[in-house]
Amino acid sequence: MTIHTLGFPRIGKKRALKFATEKYWRGEITQEALLKEGKSIRAESWRIQAEQGIELLPVGDFSFYDHVLDTSILLGVIPSRFQPLIAERFDLQFLMARGTSPSGKTTKACRMTKWWNTNYHYIVPEIQEDQVFELNPQKLLGEIKEAVEQGHQVKPVLLGPVTYLWLADYAGRTEEKLSVLPALIESYQLLLNAIADSGVTWVQLDEPILALELEKEWCDSLKLVYQSFADSNLNILLATYFGDISHHLSLIQSFAIEGLHIDLVSESVDIAQYHEAIPKSWVLSCGVVNGRNIWRTDQDKRVAGLSNISKERSDKFWLAPSCSLLHVPIDIDGETQLAPDIRANLAFATQKCQELKEIKAKLNSASRITASPSIDLPYAQEALSLREDAFLRSPYRIRTIQQKAKLDLPLFPTTTIGSFPQTKTIREIRRQWRREEISDETYQAKLKSEVANCIQEQEQLGLDVLVHGEAERNDMVEFFAQKMEGITFSEGGWVQSYGTRCVKPPIIYDEIISNSSMTTDWYAYAQSLTQKPVKGMLTGPVTILSWSFYREDIPKEQIAFQIAKVLRKEIQDLEKAGAQIIQVDEPAFREGLPLKHSQWKAYLAWAVHAFHIATGGAKDETQIHTHMCYSQFDDIISAILALDADVITIESARGDAKWFKKTEGLQALNEIGPGIYDIHSPNIPEIAPLIARLNRLRETFPDERLWVNPDCGLKTRNWEQCRAALQVMVDAAKAARHC
Ligand code: GLN
Ligand code: ZN
Repeated sequence: MTIHTLGFPRIGKKRALKFATEKYWRGEITQEALLKEGKSIRAESWRIQAEQGIELLPVGDFSFYDHVLDTSILLGVIPSRFQPLIAERFDLQFLMARGTSPSGKTTKACRMTKWWNTNYHYIVPEIQEDQVFELNPQKLLGEIKEAVEQGHQVKPVLLGPVTYLWLADYAGRTEEKLSVLPALIESYQLLLNAIADSGVTWVQLDEPILALELEKEWCDSLKLVYQSFADSNLNILLATYFGDISHHLSLIQSFAIEGLHIDLVSESVDIAQYHEAIPKSWVLSCGVVNGRNIWRTDQDKRVAGLSNISKERSDKFWLAPSCSLLHVPIDIDGETQLAPDIRANLAFATQKCQELKEIKAKLNSASRITASPSIDLPYAQEALSLREDAFLRSPYRIRTIQQKAKLDLPLFPTTTIGSFPQTKTIREIRRQWRREEISDETYQAKLKSEVANCIQEQEQLGLDVLVHGEAERNDMVEFFAQKMEGITFSEGGWVQSYGTRCVKPPIIYDEIISNSSMTTDWYAYAQSLTQKPVKGMLTGPVTILSWSFYREDIPKEQIAFQIAKVLRKEIQDLEKAGAQIIQVDEPAFREGLPLKHSQWKAYLAWAVHAFHIATGGAKDETQIHTHMCYSQFDDIISAILALDADVITIESARGDAKWFKKTEGLQALNEIGPGIYDIHSPNIPEIAPLIARLNRLRETFPDERLWVNPDCGLKTRNWEQCRAALQVMVDAAKAARHC
C-alpha cells in the first residue's frame, strides 16, 4: 500500500508566495529572488509531506499563478496577442493572467473562471483553430530534477489533455473543438517521453471531467487519448475527483493505463463496484480524506469499507486525499485561538497527510476497529424546509413602478458592485485594530472617514447609485460570518483563490443565528452624507455557504436556509434604516452547481429558495439587486429568472457582447447591468469601445432596463485606476443617454 497526494498548497506558509510575487510585480525584488522563494516553498512542501509519511510526492503542482495557465504555457498555447511579448518568458504568465507584466507591457488578459465547483479560479486556455502545440517543458522537468535531487520519490502531476481541452475556449466553432485533439495527443506523447527520460516511473494525469455526465464524443476522446499512451514508458495514474465516476467504468476499462484514482468522499460511492471493475493489474488509488474541506476524516468508516479490498489488491492499493490539497490551508499547528473541541475536529493539509498514514496503519493492522462518529460536535438545528411562502413580493411589473417613482434615476443608471479599493491605509488601520493598538472607537472613526471619502469620490464622478465602499470588510463572506453565531475562524487558514489572492474561509460548526443588525450602521452613515441612493450591501446565502468550510454531516441546504433567514431579518433592518436599494451578492451561485447535470435541478431548487428566503420579505418599493461573477448562465437561465431580483449585475467584460443577443431567456430578466469593463485588469478602458458595447447591449435590452457598471467589485484596484476607469464609464453612459 502506497500513500500519496495529488497536490499540495503552493502559497507557502504565511502566504509567502503571495507577498514575494506582489513585491516582484512592484519591482521591489528581482526575478531571481522570486524564483528562489518558489524553490524554497517547493522544498518545504515536499519536506512536510515526506515527514508525515507520504511515500509518493507530487511534482508540477507548484505554480506561481495557476496550474491551468502553466499547462497552456507548457503546451505552447499562447494566444496570438501575446506572441510579440514572448520574450517576456517568465513574465508571460503574469501578462496572460493579469494583462500586465512587471516590465510595464500591457495587453488584454485571458479570461478567468472557477475551477469546477470550487472557489479556485483558473485562467481559461485560448485555443486557435489551427493550434500548433509547442512544448516548453523546462519548468516541469526542472522541478522533477529538483525533487529527485532532494531525495524524494515523485510523481509528476499534469492536467489531462481531455480535461484541458474541455476547459479551453476555442476560436472556431465549439462543435469542432475536438479537432485539435490529435495534435494535442502528439504533444502529450512527446511530453511523456521527456518525463520518462527524467527517470520517474509514475505520472498522474488529472481528468476530473470524468465526474461529469459526458456526451459520446467526449467519451470517445478519452478512449482515444488513454489508448494512445499505451506505449509510454511511464505508468499512468488517471486521477479523477469532485465526484463519483462509476457511470464511466466500462469506458475506463478500455483505457491502457496503470492506475486509477477515485474520490470516495464527494459523493457516496460503492467501492466494491470499483474493485470489481478495475483490473487487478492496475493500481486503485482511493481518495479517502476530503481534500477540499477541513473536517477530520471518519477513519473508522473509511477503514471498514476498504479493509478487504486493500488486502486483496495489496501493493496495487493506494491511499490519497480525494483531490489536490490546494483547497485547504497548510497546517493547523499555528492555530491557537480555535476552541479546543472544534480544533480537535479539524485537519489541514499537513494533518490530512497524517490521517492517511493513520488510515494505512489501521488497514494494515489486524486489530478490530471501534466505530466513532465522524464529527464529534453537537449541532443545534431548527429544520427549515422549502416553503412556498418565502417570496412575498408582487410581480416585477408592479414593483418597478413603485421603485422607479421613488428612485427617479436617469436612463442607464451608473453604479458599482460595492467595494472600493482596500487601500494601504485601510489595511493598516485594520492591522492596528486587530493588534489592539487602536481602540474600537478609533478604528470605527477611521473607517468612517474612508466611507466619507468614498461617497465624495463617487459624487464627484457623477455616479447615480452609490455604495459605502466596504472599507470595513476584509472579505465579503468573512465580514458576515464574523457577525453570525455558529461560525468560527482560523488565524492563518489561507487558501488560494486566484493568483496571489487568498481567502480564509470561515468554519461553520453550528446553527447560524444573529441577534443584531450587521450592516445598518454603515449604510445609514453613508446615506447621511448624500442625496443619492446608497445601496445596502449583503452577501447571499449560497455564497456564504460555498466560501466557508461547512459541516459534512449536515445537509448543505439546511445551512443555506439558516443563513438566508438571518439575511431576511437584515433586509428588514436596512429598510427600517431607510435603504431603498439592497444588493444581495451571489457570486458563488453558479459554482455551487453539481458537476453532474442530473443533480442540477435539486441544487437550483434550494439555491433559489435560499435567495427567496433572504429577499422575499422585502417591500415592493425596495429594489433588490444581486450580483454574480461570470455571465455563463445560459444553461441556468430559468433559475436566474426565478430569483426574481429587480436588478442583476454580472461579470461579462472579458466575454463577448454577442452572447447577450444569442442567449435565450436573458431578455426576460427584469433589469440588468452587464459589467462593461474588466476590473481584474489594471488597464483603463477607452470610451469609444464602452459606448459601442453599450449600444450593442441596447440591441438586446430595452433602454429602461439597462444599468451601467463595472463587472465586479473594485477592492483589488487602486483609487487612481478606479477614478480613471469609472469616469470613462460614467461618460459613456451619459453619451448613450443622448443618442
Ligand atoms: N459587493 C462585492 C464587492 O464589490 C461583490 C464581490 C463579488 O462578487 N465577488 O466586492
Ligand atoms: Zn463579481
